[in-house]
Amino acid sequence: MRTETPPTVRLEDYRPSDHLIDRVELDVRLDPHDTRVSATLALRPNPAGRAHAPLVLDGDDLTLLGLELDGQALAPDTFRADASSLTLHAVPQRPFTLRIETRLDPTANTRLMGLYRSNGVYCTQCEADGFRRITYFLDRPDVLSVYTTRIEAERAAAPVLLGNGNPVEAGAVAGTDRHYAVWHDPLPKPAYLFALVGGRLDRVAKGFTTMEGRAVEIAIYVEPGKGDRAAYALDAVERSMAWDERAFGRAYDLDVFNVVAVSDFNMGAMENKGLNIFNDKFVLASPDTATDTDYAAIEAIIAHEYFHNWSGNRVTCRDWFQLCLKEGLTVFRDQEFSSDMRSRAVHRIAEVRNLRARQFPEDAGPLAHPVRPKQYAEINNFYTATVYEKGAEIVRMLRTLIGETAFRAGMDRYFADNDGTAATVEDFLEAFEAVTGRDLARFAEWYERPGTPRVAVFGSYDAAAKTYRLAFRQTRPGAGADAPPLVIPIRLGLVGTDGPLIDAASGRVEDGVFVLDAAEDTLIFENVAAEPVPSLFRGFSAPVRVESTLDAAARLTLLRHDPDSFNRWEAAQRIALGLMTAQARGDAPEEAGADDFVGALGAFLDGEALRDPAFAAQILALPSEGDVADEIGTEIDPDAIASARRDLRRRLGAGLRARLLTLREELAEPAGTPFSPDASAAGRRALRNAALDLIAAADAEAGTALAQAQIAAATNMTDRLAGLAALALLPGEAREAALAAFAERYAGEPLVLDKWFAIQAMIPEDGTVARIRRLQDHPAFAMTNPNRVRSLVGSFSLANPTQFNRADGAGYALVAETVLALDGTNPQVAARLMTAFGPWRRLEPGRRAQAESALRRIVATQGLSRDVADIGTRSLAG
Ligand SMILES: [Zn+2]
Repeated sequence: MRTETPPTVRLEDYRPSDHLIDRVELDVRLDPHDTRVSATLALRPNPAGRAHAPLVLDGDDLTLLGLELDGQALAPDTFRADASSLTLHAVPQRPFTLRIETRLDPTANTRLMGLYRSNGVYCTQCEADGFRRITYFLDRPDVLSVYTTRIEAERAAAPVLLGNGNPVEAGAVAGTDRHYAVWHDPLPKPAYLFALVGGRLDRVAKGFTTMEGRAVEIAIYVEPGKGDRAAYALDAVERSMAWDERAFGRAYDLDVFNVVAVSDFNMGAMENKGLNIFNDKFVLASPDTATDTDYAAIEAIIAHEYFHNWSGNRVTCRDWFQLCLKEGLTVFRDQEFSSDMRSRAVHRIAEVRNLRARQFPEDAGPLAHPVRPKQYAEINNFYTATVYEKGAEIVRMLRTLIGETAFRAGMDRYFADNDGTAATVEDFLEAFEAVTGRDLARFAEWYERPGTPRVAVFGSYDAAAKTYRLAFRQTRPGAGADAPPLVIPIRLGLVGTDGPLIDAASGRVEDGVFVLDAAEDTLIFENVAAEPVPSLFRGFSAPVRVESTLDAAARLTLLRHDPDSFNRWEAAQRIALGLMTAQARGDAPEEAGADDFVGALGAFLDGEALRDPAFAAQILALPSEGDVADEIGTEIDPDAIASARRDLRRRLGAGLRARLLTLREELAEPAGTPFSPDASAAGRRALRNAALDLIAAADAEAGTALAQAQIAAATNMTDRLAGLAALALLPGEAREAALAAFAERYAGEPLVLDKWFAIQAMIPEDGTVARIRRLQDHPAFAMTNPNRVRSLVGSFSLANPTQFNRADGAGYALVAETVLALDGTNPQVAARLMTAFGPWRRLEPGRRAQAESALRRIVATQGLSRDVADIGTRSLAG
């Protein structure tokens, strides 16, 4: 365990590397405890760096066995090697070769960074700085090299040997039980994109011919016996390749594209060049083990990692401050892909739910940071919703501002100008400036400051003049008076109260978009015959909080008549949010308002539920407790919020009961219908299960019977799990029996048991902390596996607000203990778990004190990792 007070790394301190590495030849001899790595590096001075600088290579936990410069062993006094660096005091001012031999123990590597073993499979994770755990190197993204990798292993233990790039040769090692494979990656890449795999794996494959005529073999490798569960992922790779050609003109550039699924993985997946390594949760799917949500996530993450081949790999990041350059852009690309594969409106709603659930609270708490951070102590803690999701929203706003045609031209320009290089946010924006002639300097502000901007909008109608005025005012949290206003694209329209749209125009609205680039501005619409309702930020055209004076009646008009689906959903959400926040704050309950809402949802279901079930399911799904907390903002009492939400669900369930029961009948698949994971079948299941949830909220007895029947009849995991989730909220024998039966049925299925852990972790009852402590001793639970930890403790901390935030502090204590227990073996996952404490300052005083003391307990612990110390310090600061 290392204890460090890490130096802060600052963007303003960036300078180019003093040396470059043109070529890397690696010879990796795999062994469970004694892996030998020989790295031959072709180095030269960087003309952009300092002359005569010492060569300082990064290392982490390495044992140096040998060191040669141009074939000569180096004298001990010419270099200094320790676990974290290798310094050569003087190196030639010309190209030279360095050969470094190191020894590693992959089995002991529980941090899952560098080379490690997952269920006996050798695999790697090098982003952000794992390559330095394999050999000493210039481990920074702006040093790009061409790699040739020879991998050797015992044939029986690792019949499959995979590397980056294309396979070159393979064979037996004479006189041994070992074999080898050589891989060559012709395209220069930074070390974080390096990967290798060795193990016993099954393979499924199919061919693809690119638009450039290249024949590519796509293959997915999974645990033996699970090949049939890789079919959906394989299909998703093929669709991703075809889509990136169509949508962005980007073709794949190697002869093979390999995806490997491993069970122990810190993140979702990794885009290593030509050899993506995935958390098996995002590859394996069958109707009996995966929900519709899992299928959608597999499709999205397969696409995301594939799209990185251009946005991230061909054009990479100059430094880690530019992380959004590859992540925000690639999230935008995968969102567009999923929107094309599924319903665009429903997908946009899912994106915004996710942004509000994860990024808005982050941006309002102590861990807030700009999309392009200015400094960090531990980069692994910056793989955040802000960098990814808000980063994607910035790209989306850029497209809204300049239009689709110019956006595509700018993307082409960006790829052309920066191919094979390490770029910055400035390089990205420059490409769009070049094709549009626009100055994007002010737009670039979006990258620079934390906090969610607010836009207040006031509408007023002049009946005599038949004009409608919309006044806008933008503010930014924490921004000084001198801070320039942001450039905010607002997609908007006016909706008439009787249904038809008002054909009104303002000269400053172009293609439905008004650009607010001043602190305050006013729009005037002419020839407006009757007072309209403004439909603002259609499609969520900017990641801001909107303050408007619309009342419930106006929002009901939008729910009924807005041609923008997103804003119809938003109208229903805002009404529900208003009802729940009023009750949770103890304001006078709006009985009439709730009845109107129930009535409007009933009318909506009658007219449209069957036309677009996926959208209807979104309309029925109330804002989460987290959304209500975020809306309330301070002095949060999670119990009051939960109670308000429970009451509204009960009211909807009771008021809509007959309709919901009928809908469930109408949406049921006829017996024998083959399972399809497509968006339309998934949409019908989603609405049917949303109906179950509301019926059960109002009537425990009916809910229990329906849920039990659904579980008994289920032919797929979506329906089975929805039945179990409904039962989980209804205390009693039926629940415990269903949980036990589920565990028995899926005893050999770790990914399915994750769902079982999660459902129990989210039960909003007093006994849940004790239940989780029992489950931590369950044979299927393992602290060494990040998926298990996230399912049990992560679900609890992020999705069980009343129990995590228990007034007696028992929830915080449980999570704090888990963070500390995990920190010694996997600090990255421990730190991620700890971010659940982020909103602690917004709680009511009693819980705030409990959360603070749990945080202080963690921070006061001796020997903390840099990852956890960084989150702890920042959470308590300010
Ligand atoms: Zn990514």
